[in-house]
Amino acid sequence: MGTLKDYIENKMSMSHVYQPVMIKTLLVNGGVAHKKAIAKDILSYDISQVEYYIRITNNMVGRVLRKNGIAKKEKDNYSLISFKDLSAEEVEALIGLCESKIAEYIDKRGDKIWEHRRRNRKAVPGSIRYQVLKRAKGRCELCGISMEEKALEVDHIVPKNHGGEDSLDNYQALCFTCNANKRDTDDTDFRKMNAVYSHREQNCIFCTINKGRIIDSNELAFVIRDKYPVTEGHLLMIPKRHCKTYFEISQAELNSMHRLAHKHREILITEDPGISGFNIGFNIGKDAGQTVNHCHMHLIPRRKGDVNNPVGGVRNIIPGKGDYTT
Ligand code: 5GP
Ligand code: ZN
Repeated sequence: MGTLKDYIENKMSMSHVYQPVMIKTLLVNGGVAHKKAIAKDILSYDISQVEYYIRITNNMVGRVLRKNGIAKKEKDNYSLISFKDLSAEEVEALIGLCESKIAEYIDKRGDKIWEHRRRNRKAVPGSIRYQVLKRAKGRCELCGISMEEKALEVDHIVPKNHGGEDSLDNYQALCFTCNANKRDTDDTDFRKMNAVYSHREQNCIFCTINKGRIIDSNELAFVIRDKYPVTEGHLLMIPKRHCKTYFEISQAELNSMHRLAHKHREILITEDPGISGFNIGFNIGKDAGQTVNHCHMHLIPRRKGDVNNPVGGVRNIIPGKGDYTT
């Protein structure tokens, strides 16, 4: 008792519910449990999985049973329409019948019935997987959870069957939950998302930019030199899709812009060792100074002495408010 109690009370690091769930499963089962039993108990705490099956219940099986007059739904509860007419023996017999139907189906179809829920069916080469996970710093690029807490999967941003490439720029690391949520809507919503990503506006200078001005691009963003640079090397990272501000871009677009910013920071400092700092900025809305209504990230190289007093950096958007130290 002592060691276990001490471990649970004092030593067990609670980075997730996993440890106490597993210990509890072992305790409840007389000290020994099959790995499947442990996994099932962990699963019972995974709200994302429960939510997934609530959607299945409501949209698929619940709908069919209601349509066929077998069940009805009141608020969040389902009920069997003829249940009150059943005797205890009949209930028993019907449970047995359901179990045999389930067993028969599993026998016939085996594991295949869950194949659509299995991840990583399309193997991504190990070396690419490694690079994507390293670039994502071991975190889901949508929700930010670390790979120690949830398994990460390497996923195509724009799916292959929608024209997405096998290039590094079109991969992202997603945790099981984010990827599952994305896959659920595959073939329906994603087509919509793809259409959204290709949205351009006729009268927008960035949507209609001369291709010759684009110095680099990836799946969802591109880079141009600012036409009126604040300092030498001033670049703009721009999502390909027309969207007005930072607050309207998707995480995938932000990732694309972020990667380009990293890459071009490297290039700039390699080409000009005089660069000793950067300002990154988004102007959001007319009152904050935005003049081109297509989201863009300014990457502005800074050099020692380029202004008399650089203190405050972006704080200098309000004259006189930069240096709060004096
Ligand atoms: P913002 O909307 O953040 O105030 O700035 C728009 C930025 O786009 C400016 O830094 C401007 O120099 C830059 N820019 C780059 N190319 C063009 C162009 O072709 N026309 C205009 N008006 N601005 C451009
Ligand atoms: Zn645009």
